[in-house]
Amino acid sequence: MTFPFDEEILSLPFYEERHRALAGQIAAWTTAHSGLWRDVEAEDDPEKTELSIIRALGEDGWFAFLNESEAPDFRSLCLRREGLAYADDLADYAFSIQALAATPILRHASAAQRERYLPGLADASQVAAFALSEEQAGSDIAALQLRADRVGNGYVLNGRKAWVANGGIADLYTVIARTGEGPGALGLTAFLVPATTPGLQVHDRIRTIAPRAFANLTFEDCRLPADSVLGRPGHGFVVAVEVLDRFRMTVGAAALGFARRAMDAALGRAAERPIYDGRLLDLPTVRATLADMEVKLNAAALLVARAAWELDHGRRRFAKHSSIAKLYATESAQDIVDAAVQIHGAAGLIADSPTGRLYRQIRSLRIYEGTSEIQRTVIAQSLDLTRVGRTAP
Ligand SMILES: Cc1cc2nc3c(=O)[nH]c(=O)nc-3n(C[C@H](O)[C@H](O)[C@H](O)COP(=O)(O)OP(=O)(O)OC[C@H]3O[C@@H](n4cnc5c(N)ncnc54)[C@H](O)[C@@H]3O)c2cc1C
Repeated sequence: MTFPFDEEILSLPFYEERHRALAGQIAAWTTAHSGLWRDVEAEDDPEKTELSIIRALGEDGWFAFLNESEAPDFRSLCLRREGLAYADDLADYAFSIQALAATPILRHASAAQRERYLPGLADASQVAAFALSEEQAGSDIAALQLRADRVGNGYVLNGRKAWVANGGIADLYTVIARTGEGPGALGLTAFLVPATTPGLQVHDRIRTIAPRAFANLTFEDCRLPADSVLGRPGHGFVVAVEVLDRFRMTVGAAALGFARRAMDAALGRAAERPIYDGRLLDLPTVRATLADMEVKLNAAALLVARAAWELDHGRRRFAKHSSIAKLYATESAQDIVDAAVQIHGAAGLIADSPTGRLYRQIRSLRIYEGTSEIQRTVIAQSLDLTRVGRTAP
């Protein structure tokens, strides 16, 4: 059985016995279910592959926390993403989008909305998506234009959403739309929109360099009852930012999973590749590259663990650490994957080789849930200016 985690990191006080047990369960599950992503041509039909992974995760209780009284701790969510990403890109995607899209419902839904939606999301008979971005409004959430006009006892939605993960396979979309209670970010509201709502259409399915269920949506006179509002009118920005603040660290965790797989592949190749009457692993420059990869892996793992620990312990400034973890882990994972390709030489570039796939799969993590530049902006805003003047001479 492959163990996708670093046992030394897991033994640190950031983690508890239940986390170490969970790591073992994740390793066992991904080993037993690898056929879900190996036996099928995942890249030819990512939607079908992803749906079968979501259903299998649901059947085995991986989303049960979505219908339990206690919200999940983020160390557990991060470990799930790390282990699934180590195993497969779509396995991580299938888990993460369902968890992310259901979280605003967990945090803001009325009792009736919870009863209506959470059981189906928890057993994965229903699939969720989170539709925030638009073509002209990605990083700039305040520029969202999809309109939700108050008509009679409900709302009518008109406009578009872009880059929606699970778009096309979702049964339920959480949609952030402009209701105009205030300017910019103050005039947004979250809505729960079943995929069957007349006027909601998948405009186009998007093929990216690492194929996945991903689509643009159109809303044309899409009528919703007033009880579709999630949380309060005018509160949509808060609904969106709250979930992003929390899930950014999980993107760091997924990056860690991809990076550790790249590291393992690089080590294996370096140890087995004969060269100059020895092995690649014997060359000092290659050893130095591997050492740099190891340092980055450790730093990323510690930053992810710290961010999740901060959130799980109710620390107010967890969002800063979530951004730090995402920024460092995703940027360093890109470096680690690139170094793994380099160590493989030409063999590293074969399209369906592990390194070839990782090279395509790792790229999007520096863009979604806030680009690296947005994370830097958040971190810069959180700098402690009370330290100014305290510098030692
Ligand atoms: C795989 C994937 C899945 C996604 N899933 C979803 C989803 O499920 N739901 C959803 O709503 N969206 C989703 N997105 C969209 C994603 O959230 C946006 O792509 C992201 O927020 C960036 O927006 P943008 O693409 O419009 O780029 P832009 O905002 O146009 O940014 C372009 C460039 O400008 C830089 N930039 C922007 N603002 C600043 C700034 N203030 N300072 C410095 N540089 C800046 C950016 O960092 C970037 O380099 C997904 C994207 C990907 C790739």
